[in-house]
Amino acid sequence: MKKYDIHDNVEDDFGYSLRPETLDEFIGQKKAKEQLRIHIEAVKNRRAAKTKKNIKSKDYVLEHVLLVSPPGLGKTTLAKIIANEFGTNFKQVIGPAMERLDLSHTLTNLDEGDILFIDEIHRMKKPIQESLYPVLEDFVLDLPIGQGPGSDVIQVPIEPFTLVGATTREGLLEGPFRTRIGIYIHLDYYTPEDIQQAIRINSAKLNIEIEEKAEYALALRARGTMRIANKLLYNVRDYAQVKSGGVLTLEVATEALEFFEIDEKGFAKQDYAYFNTLIDTFKGRAGRKALAIALSEDESTISDVYEPHYIKEGFIMLTPSGRVATEAAHEYFGYPITKQPSLFDL
Ligand code: ADP
Repeated sequence: MKKYDIHDNVEDDFGYSLRPETLDEFIGQKKAKEQLRIHIEAVKNRRAAKTKKNIKSKDYVLEHVLLVSPPGLGKTTLAKIIANEFGTNFKQVIGPAMERLDLSHTLTNLDEGDILFIDEIHRMKKPIQESLYPVLEDFVLDLPIGQGPGSDVIQVPIEPFTLVGATTREGLLEGPFRTRIGIYIHLDYYTPEDIQQAIRINSAKLNIEIEEKAEYALALRARGTMRIANKLLYNVRDYAQVKSGGVLTLEVATEALEFFEIDEKGFAKQDYAYFNTLIDTFKGRAGRKALAIALSEDESTISDVYEPHYIKEGFIMLTPSGRVATEAAHEYFGYPITKQPSLFDL
């Protein structure tokens, strides 16, 4: 059986049915939505005026977009919404899995205005990223023909499309890549109220009878992340179905959360393992690599999935000499405070 993992980042079956399909249905993220609304409307207006003015076809598609946030905050959802708003095709690829041939195939099969969503775009191989530069700028793909001295390059025109890149680490993108992106959107962690709203809407979609207090209890433990909220709702629903005839009261929700070992801040076993390792094994300070080895985790999972939330909670500080557990973390996880990080550590 698959172990229960609150950080599980794999696209979940339920994600599809619960995904909002329009900007109006997308909860919270006011700034991001406003930004997108303006750009989408501007392009639609230009398209409507198309017959009257002679504008380059590039102006009839949305500029390339970069969506930046920790996992589970809605980047894929927003990319799909953009395609829905324009009524165009949505094609999704995973950055690090992209090879030159896949890229050529994908690009040459795009129709005008399609959305090409590249997830984890910062992990795309550098030569592949570089081969995208002329595509993004002029919608021309340089295609190498043959090998060795007789090799040549032909230029293949690509239909004007919109690339929507998703990244958890904007800083890892190459400069020339960034200059070709027109629209930058940052998503923030959600408030408990936003998450509660999503839980209410999704409970209705899933025919779950849930008390308002139970909605809020789940929202408080979702770590500001919609994907985690959905996951909690599913798990707690199963528990309620088996143990209490289905109604999700506050009492049942609390019992279920205890059963799944999720504490009042939404911390689960893996988080306890992280802090026990950082505070106990490494005496409160450790490098990412050391932590990753000790926890048998990927370094990027540590920094992209786990740590943004710990930083937000004020439980760790990132310093040039490693991660430092704060006083709040010592207190929360029940460790005596031995040495406080001083200003010189920063
Ligand atoms: P990311 O691509 O950033 O990892 P996703 O777009 O896959 O995140 O979102 C994870 C899940 O959370 C989706 O399946 C969707 O149902 C839900 N979700 C994300 N953002 C919102 C939102 N603003 N409103 C409602 N549900 C959302």
